[in-house]
Amino acid sequence: MEEKKKILIVEDEKNIAQVLAFNITQAGYSYDLAFDGEEGLNKAMTGEFDLILLDLMLPKMDGFEVCRRIRAKMSTPIIIVTAREEEIDKILGLDLGADDYVTKPFSMKVLLARIKSNIRRAAGELVINEGETENPNVIVVRDLVVDSDKYRVTNDGQPILLTKKEYELLVHLAKNAGKIYSREALLEEVWGYEDFYGDLRTVDVTVSRLRDKLEKDPARPEYLMTKRGMGYYLK
Ligand code: CA
Repeated sequence: MEEKKKILIVEDEKNIAQVLAFNITQAGYSYDLAFDGEEGLNKAMTGEFDLILLDLMLPKMDGFEVCRRIRAKMSTPIIIVTAREEEIDKILGLDLGADDYVTKPFSMKVLLARIKSNIRRAAGELVINEGETENPNVIVVRDLVVDSDKYRVTNDGQPILLTKKEYELLVHLAKNAGKIYSREALLEEVWGYEDFYGDLRTVDVTVSRLRDKLEKDPARPEYLMTKRGMGYYLK
């Protein structure tokens, strides 16, 4: 029998946690509970979970901090469960690195669908050797596989979770590997800012985040290269 996927529920309101746990069990997953941010972080760091459901307003350490700290170490999918719809914009602006957001009150059906799709997106190995693929939507650069059909990136078989912009930037560079793009060009082509309304540092920040996720040593990149005074390219 296939081992059950395990979900960590970080939620201080015990009645909500219990409802979540009940429904998650019914849907065929196993779970563990954490009732404050610190406990949530400690449990998450064991790496035994396939997905983390994270409340934001938590005692001891808030969900923002928990999310950041988990994301600094691992790519386990995180779904943030937030109280109000209007908070979403603010949360997205912080770029916590969460994978999905659900607002309270939520429908259990919607939440379970999100859980399923996030686990599916993160799990499963996709091991393709260079040259073995003829699908133009799968780009293979050494150990790096960018599958734009499945919206998936793996490095050495390990799934890497990227934000939308990180992903779009990577796809853009990977499709034209070796070609150098100026920051202005990337801002225009990836962000769609035509008259450079955007800040060029946006590009640098996104490149830097991508390196943190892709490179073995982000200070000595092997994929995402800088061409001094000219721009960036994928090697
Ligand atoms: Ca709470």
